[in-house]
Amino acid sequence: MTIKPEDAVRYEVRDGVAVLTIDFPPVNALGAPMREGMMARLDQALADPAAEAIVVVGANDKFIAGADIREFGKPKVGPELFTIQEKMEQSPKPIVAAIDGHALGGGLEFALAAPFRVAASRAKVGLVEVNLGLLPGGGGTQRLTRLVGPEVALDMILNARHVPAPKAKELGIVDAVTDGDVTEAAIAFARQKAKEGGPWPVAIERTDKVQNVDPKIFEDIRTKNAGKWKGTVAPFQIVNCVEAATKLAPREGLAFEREAFKICNDAPSRPAQIHLFFAERQAAKVDGTEGIKPKAIRSVGIIGAGTMGGGIAMSIVNAGLSVKLLDTTQEALDAGMARVTKNYQTSVSRGSTTQEKVDAALARIETVLDYSAFSDVDMVIEAVFENLEVKHQVFRKLDKVCKPGAILASNTSALNIDRIAEAVSRPGDVIGLHFFSPANVMKLIEVVRGDLASKETIVTAMNFAKTIGKVPVLAGSCVGFIGNRILHRYGAEGDLMQLEGATPWQIDNALKDFGFPMGIYLMRDMAGLDVGWLVRKNRMKDGTIDPNAADYNPLMDRLCEKGRYGQKTGAGLYKYDGRNAAPDAEVEAMLIQISAEKGITRRAISDEEIVWRVLAAMVNEGAKIVEEGYAQRASDIDVTYAFGYGFPKYRGGPMFWAEQQGLDKVYAKIKEYEVQYPQRWKPANLLKDRAEAGKGWKD
Ligand code: NAD
Repeated sequence: MTIKPEDAVRYEVRDGVAVLTIDFPPVNALGAPMREGMMARLDQALADPAAEAIVVVGANDKFIAGADIREFGKPKVGPELFTIQEKMEQSPKPIVAAIDGHALGGGLEFALAAPFRVAASRAKVGLVEVNLGLLPGGGGTQRLTRLVGPEVALDMILNARHVPAPKAKELGIVDAVTDGDVTEAAIAFARQKAKEGGPWPVAIERTDKVQNVDPKIFEDIRTKNAGKWKGTVAPFQIVNCVEAATKLAPREGLAFEREAFKICNDAPSRPAQIHLFFAERQAAKVDGTEGIKPKAIRSVGIIGAGTMGGGIAMSIVNAGLSVKLLDTTQEALDAGMARVTKNYQTSVSRGSTTQEKVDAALARIETVLDYSAFSDVDMVIEAVFENLEVKHQVFRKLDKVCKPGAILASNTSALNIDRIAEAVSRPGDVIGLHFFSPANVMKLIEVVRGDLASKETIVTAMNFAKTIGKVPVLAGSCVGFIGNRILHRYGAEGDLMQLEGATPWQIDNALKDFGFPMGIYLMRDMAGLDVGWLVRKNRMKDGTIDPNAADYNPLMDRLCEKGRYGQKTGAGLYKYDGRNAAPDAEVEAMLIQISAEKGITRRAISDEEIVWRVLAAMVNEGAKIVEEGYAQRASDIDVTYAFGYGFPKYRGGPMFWAEQQGLDKVYAKIKEYEVQYPQRWKPANLLKDRAEAGKGWKD
């Protein structure tokens, strides 16, 4: 449906104030009809003798959500935002932006050009373009910096912060905050200003906050984040723009920002970032559940106050909900709470939170020893030992005490959800909520659906994950779910490359160069090699692993036999000095020995080959997971990997990477590998079909 400009911005005069109401569904974005309507209505208001002031407000309790994503990548039509902003800055009548809902990105940039801003107390403002690999190119870096100073501006823009209205008032971003009707408050404010008389403040001309700024703050922030921002363009350009606001005249600063915006827009990382932005939103949607409403989750019980239980409790109370944390003994509860408190203290000492917030969060965790405490909770998350019998005991108790309809979730990383659900009389309420460690930090949650889970349970779990600020991806209950199943596959490829001539550190370094924060083997050393060893020994006993197979690499078994369990024992695949890992000639000698035993002539393996084999293994397994229905779509694999496994976000995820290479090229490589190892490299049918049809994953 096309909306006419005169409908996109409505006009009325109330109490001598022209009220311009943006009514441009769904989110009042800065689309062409809205911009055109705004220009016309501003002219109308300026010419209207009945109006002594102007208020711009959004319909349906929303301000302007931001740029119109429907216009991305298309040529711009209609007036530019800049022209509207100039008109507002030169207005002889005072203009007040009345902000409710979210004024993000272009929405806030628009409002910053009005002389005044009045916000509803529940409103939030922010410049969030960095999430899309961009910078606020509508004057945001220049006006905000001049209003609040470079340090606050950098923090807000680089972290895409959503600043609540009261805080925005404190910072000087808005002039007044109201608990009442924002339009009424803005009209009263505008009348008052008209009475007082001009000139009206112009943010872009403010100089007090940008004088005598120490240029070192910009250098420091660049140096400090060089690693974190590797491969991205926008954060660096944002720093440049904020710095420019402290050095250049207003119009020069705006011109500088425009150029910097173009650089971001043309950056190779940008399509990947846009892809992930939409992929994340898509991942939260569950096909076939239209019209099914999530249940409200207000209180949560957690069982197991260990590493995961404590971290899960932190995530939930940080979002303002309350938690009852249960363990078998008071000692276990005390130890769990001590760990939680210590984690919070670290955040306070780092300055990432305040003692006040921590105290409030801790007050929302109640420790309990008796299951009867769970009789009224809306959801329980079990995080006890990874053992089916123990989980069954727990779920049997839950079945007895929990109210009907309570969601019964397990944080299992490997057990089959339907097997866990066997212990209860209401398997439809059982679901996996696979948090990642550390659970209070990691964004990803795999919501694992067994065959028995009801749609309402699935939708509720997905919604709950979002409520606590996580990124949910729906996974089927296959071995390893999505993430670990893929990790297992490419880990095995790394192990094979070690037999052929690579070392653990060469593989890790190649992956680090690709953009992973950490390679496979450093990660294994951190997690500890002993758990996997135990699993493999059992599997050798039951015959599911053949240690004599040509492609079986016994390096880690042999390391464990020597007591080298990883970082915690000072040696594993690497040797350690404290936390510092170093390559170990002894490990290389062991590998040479193993290759000789297997009759493999070691060869030089290039970093390019390492990256290709690891990535192709990820993609092939990812395609199989989609094909088998354990993931809803290829982009869910990307979200899983970007938010849970350190895949560089600026590369968009493994499946996106494959599309960028060309699925035909990836398929051809896999066919090449298949010649030597037909078992491990059987191409996914989905990949084969798409590649042969010359298509991407979606089309
Ligand atoms: P952990 O050993 O640190 O903690 C387990 C806690 O559960 C302990 O405090 C223990 O006292 C308690 N517990 C054991 N049996 C209990 C029972 N019957 N009733 C009440 N409490 C009981 O283990 P963890 O690392 O936190 O792992 C917990 C679960 O989370 C496991 O299923 C694991 O597979 C899964 N998980 C772990 C990680 C990880 O990285 N550690 C990541 C994802 C998922």
